[in-house]
Amino acid sequence: MKVFISFIVLIPLFGMSQDNINKNSIEFNKSLYTDSITVGRFHVRFTDQFDDADKMKTKNGLLWLDEVMDKDSFKSKVVKMRYKNTRIKNKVNKKCKAENRTKKRYNAEEIFELLVKGNDGLGNLNDQIIDLYLDLDPDLRGNVLGSTSCGRIKSGRLFFENNSKEKYASHLIHEYMHVLGFNHFLNKPLFRSFFLKKNDPPYQIGKLTRALIPQ
Ligand SMILES: [Zn+2]
Repeated sequence: MKVFISFIVLIPLFGMSQDNINKNSIEFNKSLYTDSITVGRFHVRFTDQFDDADKMKTKNGLLWLDEVMDKDSFKSKVVKMRYKNTRIKNKVNKKCKAENRTKKRYNAEEIFELLVKGNDGLGNLNDQIIDLYLDLDPDLRGNVLGSTSCGRIKSGRLFFENNSKEKYASHLIHEYMHVLGFNHFLNKPLFRSFFLKKNDPPYQIGKLTRALIPQ
């Protein structure tokens, strides 16, 4: 009987082919995204964790960010920053097939281009649309504000509620840098805060937009 059970358990593993859709992917979870809006360059999809007020706050935050990104001063700030860890490692498409880590290290100008061209794998490449698939996690607390996996951005509800629309939008652009494929050197936030200078593209772009929030 034991042999029989393990046989049944193993069949799906052997049957898994490259074409199977990753369970964390947008493709697999697309029914979770029940609403969408377009705000300037942003095409936003929401899960039902967002009520109407949450969507409005997100929209207003992104309107602000869209204006910021339109300014020439934004480009000059992005290209002046110093970046580390500038290889693309985990750019994904909707099925969550990650591209291999690039040998190429992107310079500041190229990082800016990837960002404004919307070089994500979630729509057409370089369509100048920033695709955001957003979710809120009621249980996420502490230092981690949110995370991105397979192109899906999940943020802590407490963080969302306790911070301004601009701060949320700045957090989203940090997470979008992950969608583009840029990563932190160390994945565990605790190690990161001890050992890493926070100067990879997600941190730098997030920091830059935070500094532009009107006081
Ligand atoms: Zn991050």
